[in-house]
Amino acid sequence: MSRTLLVVEDERPLAETLRFNLEMEGYRVRTAEDGVEGLSMARALQPDLVLLDLMLPRMDGLDVLRGIREQSQTPVLLLTARTSEADRVKGLDLGADDYITKPFSLAELKARVRVHLRRKQEVTVEERVLEFGEFTLDLNRRLLSRDGEPIALRPKEYELLAYLAQRDGRAFTRDQLLNDVWDISFAGGTRTVDVHVRWLRKKIEQPDGPPRHLITVRGAGYRFER
Ligand code: CA
Repeated sequence: MSRTLLVVEDERPLAETLRFNLEMEGYRVRTAEDGVEGLSMARALQPDLVLLDLMLPRMDGLDVLRGIREQSQTPVLLLTARTSEADRVKGLDLGADDYITKPFSLAELKARVRVHLRRKQEVTVEERVLEFGEFTLDLNRRLLSRDGEPIALRPKEYELLAYLAQRDGRAFTRDQLLNDVWDISFAGGTRTVDVHVRWLRKKIEQPDGPPRHLITVRGAGYRFER
């Protein structure tokens, strides 16, 4: 059965471009032109994924997101303008899964849609052993290994890696990670997150070149990519 996507976007040409391209990928696509309509369609349709513009008439995108999250954990990808970094962070804190900055490439958007639909499927299967590159993360044994060789991790390094790897593709703010992994929140505490990311990168990334797994989400936080 094909997946249903809801596009909430008031710029009609963009909404139609998205609909056309996503239908070509085999998805069923519904569109809403304002926030009120978007929220009611999200509730009625129970789509597999929502693409949500932030600047919408009648109801702001962040309020639509809040309304969706009251009832559903369906993946929500925010479509944001380049200027609204504060909104992006707020969106992730409110439970958005990711954001895509306008103007975006359709290839990038389609790739992110695939990642989040796949992740949604995998979360329900509840994998206990995750594989990425030459690494294996065994959640039962709390063990990271590379080509079968165990790698020593500090307890919080393990917990941060396990948290992100189980939520493959989803972006998190430093505050969220501090809250969920450290179970604390204090001013300046987000530095702790950065330090642990740096330690982890030394263990799982190539010494040269950009990170392949622990990705910095510009102006927001981090995400894990298999
Ligand atoms: Ca708009």
